[in-house]
Amino acid sequence: MESSNLWIESFVVGALAMRCSVITDLSTGDTVIIDGGAEASRLISWINEFSGQGPDWSNGPSSFEQLGEYGLNSRTVVALVNTHAHFDHSGEIPILLEEYKVSWYLHKDDFYLQTLAQASGRRWGFELPEPAIADELLHDGMELNLGSLWFKILHTPGHTLGGCCILVDVDDGPDQLFAGDTLFAGSVGRTDLPNSGGDFNLLSNSIVTKLWPLDPATIVHPGHGPTTTIGVEKATNPYVGINSPALGKYH
Ligand SMILES: [Zn+2]
Ligand SMILES: [Zn+2]
Repeated sequence: MESSNLWIESFVVGALAMRCSVITDLSTGDTVIIDGGAEASRLISWINEFSGQGPDWSNGPSSFEQLGEYGLNSRTVVALVNTHAHFDHSGEIPILLEEYKVSWYLHKDDFYLQTLAQASGRRWGFELPEPAIADELLHDGMELNLGSLWFKILHTPGHTLGGCCILVDVDDGPDQLFAGDTLFAGSVGRTDLPNSGGDFNLLSNSIVTKLWPLDPATIVHPGHGPTTTIGVEKATNPYVGINSPALGKYH
């Protein structure tokens, strides 16, 4: 299913500067939070009240008055979805679940990793709540319908075993890919993190087979660092671009 009237907000949160993306259908107010791992109170204040620091980037309203121009007087969080379960992406999910009482979606191959969020955070000096346990499964190729929003799930293991990229097929602009730590602008996610199942061959295979076939104009929202496009990364990424030495075996 194609989407239009898509409102995207990026919040760079936590000590690891992780991108949380808040996606809203401006025709209905239905909202999905992708990777709500840190600064949950900042997310909640903004989503519920337009108060506090707000997003680092947005293509939509920044007040109730502006929201009203779309015929909406509030928005409704309908689900939480995670690209993967590292603590910077998942640590404060329990706080969001308490506020919104919705389902949390995660790939089953990160179900072990999700249980480690509190302990991993502690190693970095962060106090996090007891980890949430996801109640809905993501799987490769699924068309995920959440409220009036539609997502396509691409399982892209390699940074973690259950890592996924979340694609929105947009009919009035470029498609949007929420890539977690699979693909960054000019880089890729680490494959050496503990308990994660990271593996560079797996990661590069995921990117080549699942991401490079996407429309080159697709905007990529990585879990860390600036946005980019599929076309730019496919042509120039030094680790997994089509000219990179590591990928010689695919050509
Ligand atoms: Zn990660
Ligand atoms: Zn991360």
